[in-house]
Amino acid sequence: MKNVIVTVVLVALGVGGPAAAQEPVWDPNTVELQRLPVAPGVYALVAAGAKELEAKGVPLATTGGIVVGSRASLVIDTMLNQRLTDIVLKEVGALTRGVPTYAVNTSYHGDHSYGNALVPQSTVVIQHEATKAYVDANFDADVKFMLGAFGPGRGIETARARTGDVLVPKSGLVRLDLGGKLVEIRDFGFAQTGGDLWVWLPQEKVLFAGNPVIAASPAIPWLLDGHLQDTLDTLTRVRDFLPADATIVPGHGAPMKKANLDWHVQYLTALRDQTRVAIANGATLEQAVARVDVSGAERYAIYGWVHKQINVPAAYKELKR
Ligand SMILES: [Zn+2]
Repeated sequence: MKNVIVTVVLVALGVGGPAAAQEPVWDPNTVELQRLPVAPGVYALVAAGAKELEAKGVPLATTGGIVVGSRASLVIDTMLNQRLTDIVLKEVGALTRGVPTYAVNTSYHGDHSYGNALVPQSTVVIQHEATKAYVDANFDADVKFMLGAFGPGRGIETARARTGDVLVPKSGLVRLDLGGKLVEIRDFGFAQTGGDLWVWLPQEKVLFAGNPVIAASPAIPWLLDGHLQDTLDTLTRVRDFLPADATIVPGHGAPMKKANLDWHVQYLTALRDQTRVAIANGATLEQAVARVDVSGAERYAIYGWVHKQINVPAAYKELKR
């Protein structure tokens, strides 16, 4: 059972692969993050070479964000370890000559939130109330899993919990005015963890998505906690919410156009419909895993794990009910 859990967590981090524990696909000790301007005062911190690599289906490091207004600044996701959090703080320093006023976690995943304890105490940490509940109950176990996924010597051993100073309730919305920069921190519903927050800039039409949108095609959603239909509903809701010319900054990739979200919705829809057919035809789980195949997704380097070991079983379990 433990091995199964560790395998699931490896995939959760995008570090999957048979030799993952020794050699993660992206190494938090060496990965280079580049600051890309997305709109005036709005930046994404993206792994070097992301556009080319993600097109080949390579899983990438956590993408972060910085929004700078005339009065305040906001960091989106505080990263995994001291090295990566320091990169974020250095970029904020270069842009503002100060420290972040706010930092938001798009989920409890360690690569998006362990840095909470590493940003200044004065930085106001914002997270979903479900994220705080998860961290309060599971932090030590979570750190162990992350250590298993990334291996030792990557600054995970010293991780400390810091939960939100401001908590966003279920279906909630927090509005910030950073000074000429309006920010909405939204809960659109279950998207991967149940404590998923999206950062929307209505003037710039930029959405920071976190893990519910991993990267542009061929990356696919990971139904780590199940909830296929809820996730599909949420991604559809996000798609309906966004104007046609919106930019999405995904959780592990380069900024993309709204149209790229269609792929994720298509994948989940096909996964649901094909799994339904398999169940209707009396397929066992193993048969369903063999039959359900969404064309195009196989180009994702960790498709075998995410699709066959996580998503199809999650869909089967949910639809069988
Ligand atoms: Zn992540």
